[in-house]
Amino acid sequence: MRLYDDQLIDISARFQAEMKKGLSAESSAAAAVKMLPTHVRSTPDGSEKGQFLALDLGGSKFKVLQVKVREGMGVRKGGVEMEEKIYPMSKELLNGRAPELFDHVSESLKDFLHVKNISLDKKHPLAFTFSFPCEQTRLDKGLLLSWSKNCRARGLQGKDVVQALREAIDRTGGMDIEVLAMVNDTVATMMTCGFDDQYCDVGLIIGTGTNACYMEELRHVDLVEGDEGRMCVNTEWGGFGDDGALNDYITEFDQDVDATSINPGKQIFEKMVSGMYLGELVRLVVLKMAKLGQLFDGLVPDALRTKGKITTAHVAAMEEYKNGLKNTRDILVELGLNPSQDDCIAVQHVSTIVSFRSSNLVAAGLAAILTRIKHNRHLRALRITVGVDGTVYKTHPQYPKRLHKVVRRLLPECQVRFVLSDSGSSKGAALVTAVAQRLASRKRQ
Ligand code: BGC
Ligand code: MG
Repeated sequence: MRLYDDQLIDISARFQAEMKKGLSAESSAAAAVKMLPTHVRSTPDGSEKGQFLALDLGGSKFKVLQVKVREGMGVRKGGVEMEEKIYPMSKELLNGRAPELFDHVSESLKDFLHVKNISLDKKHPLAFTFSFPCEQTRLDKGLLLSWSKNCRARGLQGKDVVQALREAIDRTGGMDIEVLAMVNDTVATMMTCGFDDQYCDVGLIIGTGTNACYMEELRHVDLVEGDEGRMCVNTEWGGFGDDGALNDYITEFDQDVDATSINPGKQIFEKMVSGMYLGELVRLVVLKMAKLGQLFDGLVPDALRTKGKITTAHVAAMEEYKNGLKNTRDILVELGLNPSQDDCIAVQHVSTIVSFRSSNLVAAGLAAILTRIKHNRHLRALRITVGVDGTVYKTHPQYPKRLHKVVRRLLPECQVRFVLSDSGSSKGAALVTAVAQRLASRKRQ
């Protein structure tokens, strides 16, 4: 799992080749990295305004929001205000039937209107952050290609997600909602960060799942007509490796995680990187070492044999600067062990190797995207901002620093700024809608 820079450069080159495949008309249908056009053609310029309802589904929490965008102030200076409510989302709903899942979504929306005293008589524009791969032909239409992470509700694959939402809102009744846009969380994150920073042309999520988007030259996007200007492309880089492109980097632990997942063979890169799997990877390595007698005097308690018993929150706790070792002991005791000091040090080390590999792989993917942008724009040096959101990036104490360092080492000629786009994946859907409205009103003038 230790990756050296020459290997990261190799992985980065492979990812660049995958991006090309995904963009080109001849090869896109079979490409592992899907490179989906988002129909977002411009990042914010700060002059957007309006009031929107928003839904954020597919991250670690399901949220309903009201977002107010005020002209010319920027996100940080209070130009984007939001009120949000987190609604529970049960395993049963995520694994049940899609109509029931969407009924829950729209009933939560209705509850939100009620709780926040928002008038039911008025028409409300709504923006939808939906963090799964969708083939979009318009801003307000997207066919679900496949589920990922912890969701697999039946009956939506291949169908229009916006339509499913509209139908659910009709079934719930008593609301006047106009669904204007559906966006991926990466796109929302880029847009939120872009409201403040005109250099923000990349959005990155390292959370339950992982993915990145960026502004591509429209002439390279074969699936969309037109050659002028740019369009945001959702790379869906979680699928990198699904065609075997990463086979020589895959360990027995990765194979194990994949085999016991709800989508075997899919999202191979995501399973090496994202929060849903990091804890499990650590558990599998520790389990093997215990079975070999290299840890805990060979003691293997049932808890250690149980899927999901080590989480990404545990990984983050084990790598805390000051308390990491003590946290590691507490976690192992919780699993029914009585670890020695050496056991704790070893387990902490395993955790570091697993999470470091994750940030290394993200750095390699990001380096590929930034190199591509640099070539696209015929620049020798690139100044760019990456908007980032996601629980791993936000909660792992060392992750951001490691990621930034490796990216800068791989791309010494680029000036890369990372901006944490807090709640970016929720706010950004509203910004996409606001930008679309700005562009539309400019056209009318
Ligand atoms: C999904 C992406 C999403 C990412 C981060 C992946 O599993 O396929 O659409 O952007 O998770 O939430
Ligand atoms: Mg999210």
